[in-house]
Amino acid sequence: MDKANYEALSARLKVLAHPERLRILDALRREPECVCHLEALLGKPQPYVSQQLRLLREAGVIRDDKQGQNVFYTICDPAVSAWLDAVLGQVDVALERRDRHERIAECTCPKCAPVTLSLAA
Ligand SMILES: [Zn+2]
Repeated sequence: MDKANYEALSARLKVLAHPERLRILDALRREPECVCHLEALLGKPQPYVSQQLRLLREAGVIRDDKQGQNVFYTICDPAVSAWLDAVLGQVDVALERRDRHERIAECTCPKCAPVTLSLAA
């Protein structure tokens, strides 16, 4: 590994080594989530959450998938998923995907408010 690679790796680790971004990634490794859910999870305003998501996306860690009105964010780098499992512990894969979703009472995203989803469908 030459110096340039160490620098790239260091830049990548700096993107990951941030408490709110780790919290976002911990949610995303369980289930793809939309920005309004991450807003409710972090308790931060949308511009702040969007900025963190943009940094993660620009680093190639996450990607966004548009589904109807919502944009869902997913971890697209398997190395980052493996690293998260190593530092945070494995997600219980025996759970159904929807049960891995951390439901928040005051959240209005389609996964927390399934009534809205059925109305939209
Ligand atoms: Zn939600």
